[in-house]
Amino acid sequence: MNRFEYARSGSVHDALRAIRQVPAMVDALGPEPLGTDPPMKFIAGGTNLLDLVKENVMHPRLLVDINGLPLDRIQPTAEGGLLLGALARNADTAYHPLVQERYPLLSAAILAGASPQLRNMATNGGNLLQRTRCYYFYDAGVPCNKRQPGSGCPARGGLNRIHAVLGASPQCIATHPSDMCVALAALEAVVLVSGPQGDRRIAFADFHRLPGDRPDIDTTLAADELITGIALPPEGFGRHSAYLKLRDRQSYAFALVSVAAALEIDEASGEIREARVALGGVAHKPWRDREAERSLIGRRAVPAAFEAMAAMVLADAQGCGHNDFKIPMAHRAVVRALERACGVEVA
Ligand code: SF4
Repeated sequence: MNRFEYARSGSVHDALRAIRQVPAMVDALGPEPLGTDPPMKFIAGGTNLLDLVKENVMHPRLLVDINGLPLDRIQPTAEGGLLLGALARNADTAYHPLVQERYPLLSAAILAGASPQLRNMATNGGNLLQRTRCYYFYDAGVPCNKRQPGSGCPARGGLNRIHAVLGASPQCIATHPSDMCVALAALEAVVLVSGPQGDRRIAFADFHRLPGDRPDIDTTLAADELITGIALPPEGFGRHSAYLKLRDRQSYAFALVSVAAALEIDEASGEIREARVALGGVAHKPWRDREAERSLIGRRAVPAAFEAMAAMVLADAQGCGHNDFKIPMAHRAVVRALERACGVEVA
């Protein structure tokens, strides 16, 4: 059994102050198990973290419960966008009238994920921090570079049906599991964080990392920083957007491939003015290809343009055997999502 201490915080200031107790706590609890995870974790919904602790994958020495912090509101911003509190539940976010009306892409992506029970419990901040569902990562009895850098990646020569085809490294081919994050990447949200040095804003594209030679580090959030909110920009692509998720069963399954597509179309000429296409289930982070997106600008929203765009996105994709099917599947998913976004879907 891994012993840990538990504390509750009532304010962001208290939560950040609790981090300073960690060194004394680690001393009192004895040597840390193998791994590079920070010894302190904030806990809110706990829908992923508690599984990881019970499976002996993560070993926090201190859990700071932040459910009492006043970060659960969803409200318009002065810039014309929407602020999603880090502690607002996924279900409350998906069904919020302003999210449904102005950001239907985000609502659809959230509702495509997990189960109603999990969405009622999981928070927006926690959704961003959930960890890969690679089978080997959850099996503490086998090596895994994400749990213990340098130990190896059994997925490369093993069961890799759910793994990455874009942006992987020799050290790790895991995928990011979130649906919500795929939509947030397409919307170009901003992650708001607080830490001992003050507040900062992280562009969504810079929040999650590719594995490189440090697959144990998922994000650019520092160990002593807390997510306080997610800012959505004013443009929600309410007229032309779609979230398409392909999975082994229609509910409570992670994406094999998903696509968040958002378009701004000149209604007079029918030409595309802006295009965002983010893919889930194919990489260590929500995947966007800006050059491929730009290839759609000025073109009419027709299947031939979408086919060419999808080919650009997947040009460098590489499978590891079992997951080779994801490459043609992702191509078709990009085309289909773009068709749905602009209402020209071909049966
Ligand atoms: Fe570990 Fe990544 Fe390899 Fe999975 S893919 S076994 S998470 S190193």
